[in-house]
Amino acid sequence: MKTYAIGLVPGPVSVPRAFREPYLEDYGSADLEEEFFLLYEENERLLRRFLKTENSVVIQSGEGMCALWGALKSVLAPGDRLLALSNGIFGRGFGEMGKGLGFETRILEAPEGEFLDPEAVRAEARAFGPKVITFVHCETPSGLLNPIAPLGAVAREVDALLCVDYVASAGGADVRTDEWGIDLGLLGSQKVLSLLPDLSMTAVSPRAWAAAEALGYQGYDALLPWREGPAERYLPYTHNWHAMASLNRSLNQILSDGLEASFARHAAVAARCRERLAHMGVAIYPKSEALCSPTVTAALLPDGWSWKALDGALRERGMVVGGSYGPLAGKVFRIGHMGSQADMDLVSKGMDVLAGVLKAR
Ligand SMILES: *Cc1c(COP(=O)(O)O)cnc(C)c1O
Repeated sequence: MKTYAIGLVPGPVSVPRAFREPYLEDYGSADLEEEFFLLYEENERLLRRFLKTENSVVIQSGEGMCALWGALKSVLAPGDRLLALSNGIFGRGFGEMGKGLGFETRILEAPEGEFLDPEAVRAEARAFGPKVITFVHCETPSGLLNPIAPLGAVAREVDALLCVDYVASAGGADVRTDEWGIDLGLLGSQKVLSLLPDLSMTAVSPRAWAAAEALGYQGYDALLPWREGPAERYLPYTHNWHAMASLNRSLNQILSDGLEASFARHAAVAARCRERLAHMGVAIYPKSEALCSPTVTAALLPDGWSWKALDGALRERGMVVGGSYGPLAGKVFRIGHMGSQADMDLVSKGMDVLAGVLKAR
């Protein structure tokens, strides 16, 4: 199998050696031992700081999508109303998931490459009366970082839960779970945390717990067993001790360096990436720089380049970036500079390779 010296895929990101080490160790039984539960509780405390919340943070085994499915299924039943806000694939994806699960679903789309107008959201929410409003903080496939702060008030006005996917932003951009009124905050391990795709984490507000309890959904991805489970030393399955040990390292590293330092590093690297692209005459997908995420840059494929040709030429030179999918497939390519990849040297090298490839044509 081929490997690449310059990895700039927007997740899963490169996993530093130090975070792989716990996988080489043997632990005991993750579902039985006090030591594991203490680790779980410590990770939960660290995640509260990471996500700026007093709420419980559930840590489940499973890739990031597990958090999305688990949140929806834990608080909504078929026939319930879901308003999915969208300016990209994950935003729309929530709506498609909702339809598939039999919820009465409306999708409110922003104009191409732009933010949603909070007043339009308010009007739609008032007219529709959803039980849950979903949105995505960093819309990874389109490189947008959506403002979430105005939505908390809208959700409260219509008595809806606010469910936000911050899988690709938290740790690289400021996430204020409580201040923004997020009832279900969703996180995965393979983005800024720079871990293997093994864990999904969900910050659950008291309002969201009440809804989950009223519904009583059961299933592998269900949140409810995690409400009392860890404190009662009883889990619904054998947890991933290796991944939990690795999560502990990543969180401790980010928090001891400081969240502000992490945000600044991501912002500086993202700015350099965009600056270099502009220099090469490569346009970004978002309507303006102000809308861009500090964790990923979505750019338009340069004239005369197909995704296949660009991807092939970059791989030949030892570099791998992300393509896009859905309506953006073949139009957009993406540079992931989050977590371990928010590294000025790495991104500068990557931009050198890209510039060389474009010039060689
Ligand atoms: C990566 C990501 C997820 C997790 O899903 P994947 O299967 O890893 O794509 C969910 N939401 C967002 C916004 C993501 O970037």
